[in-house]
Order: sequence, then C-alpha cells, then structure tokens
Amino acid sequence: MRSFFEHWWTVWRTVRRQMIVRLVKTFRFEAAHDLPCFPPGHKCRRLHGHSFRFDVIVQGEVDPKIGYLIDYGDIKQICDPIVKQLDHYYLNDIPGLSISTSEMIAVWLWNKIKPELAMLDEIVVYETCTSACHYRGK
Ligand SMILES: [Zn+2]
Repeated sequence: MRSFFEHWWTVWRTVRRQMIVRLVKTFRFEAAHDLPCFPPGHKCRRLHGHSFRFDVIVQGEVDPKIGYLIDYGDIKQICDPIVKQLDHYYLNDIPGLSISTSEMIAVWLWNKIKPELAMLDEIVVYETCTSACHYRGK
C-alpha cells in the first residue's frame, strides 16, 4: 500500500508530466590490495587482486524536448581518467585508499566524480560477483 506522500508525488508528477530516471554506467578495473584492517589470519590481509566493477548511477528529470537525461559518453569522459588512476595499481599506494575496502573505494570514487557530475546519485562497487557496496554520499 502506497503512502499518502507517494500518492500525491505520483499525482504531481503526472500533472507536470515529469519523468525521473536513474541511469547506470558500468566501469571495470583490475587492481591489487591487502587489507591490514582485518583480523590476523584473515584471508583479506594477504596481497591479492580483484576484477573490480563499479556502477555510476545518475538521477534526474528527462527534458521531453531532448528525450534523455545525459549522454552516457559524458559519464565515460568524466570517469575514464579516474579508472586510469586505479587500473593495474596496488590500491593501498593511492592517496586516500590506504584502507582499500570496497566501502572506502566507493567513497573515494564519489569524492572524485561528484564535483564533475552533479546528478550523481549512487556509486556501487563490486569487489566480487557476489559482494557489493552501495554509497550515496552520506
Ligand atoms: Zn580484496
């Protein structure tokens, strides 16, 4: 059952013919790290690598005159130089990533991307196929 707020939000959007969308652009990089923040004997303390993946998720209102929110290529242009800073590096050596958990990588990415991409709504970092961290800037 929808809340009172959700109902009136839907009505308002319908009246305005507003279309809010979320777009997802995915990036990949390979990198090594070790995580001394884990307890002694934990496997993550050993030097190892991941095929990292992260999603850059933007949200906003589509202008019906142009029919899209943002060119995916514009997101790629912003993120490619950032990916180059990570790809095939030892993450612990990168300023701001001395603790390179997926949580800290998500925050690091947010801080790099948000100033360039105001409509950024969420970063999702996949350390493995089954483990991901979602970060929305707070
Ligand atoms: Zn790891």
